[in-house]
Amino acid sequence: MATSSIEWTELTWNPTTGCDKVSAGCKHCYAEVMSRRLKAMGLAKYADGFKLRIHESALSVPYTWKKPAMVFGQLDE
Ligand code: SF4
Repeated sequence: MATSSIEWTELTWNPTTGCDKVSAGCKHCYAEVMSRRLKAMGLAKYADGFKLRIHESALSVPYTWKKPAMVFGQLDE
């Protein structure tokens, strides 16, 4: 979880990374490109690149939030 500079959200929370390509619409997937970039940058969460992964240590993060917030899931955190 991190505070966000995105104007329409307050926090980001990303308990999963990667995805499975499910349709022709996935051919030019932005998330796949970003995951390759983040892996190359050495981010541990992206060690497996675009393979779907659940990061169990992130699952309990919402329990630490003390007040309601607009939360957005995205690739970087
Ligand atoms: S994140 Fe990428 S691979 Fe997953 S459904 Fe969306 S476009 Fe397809």
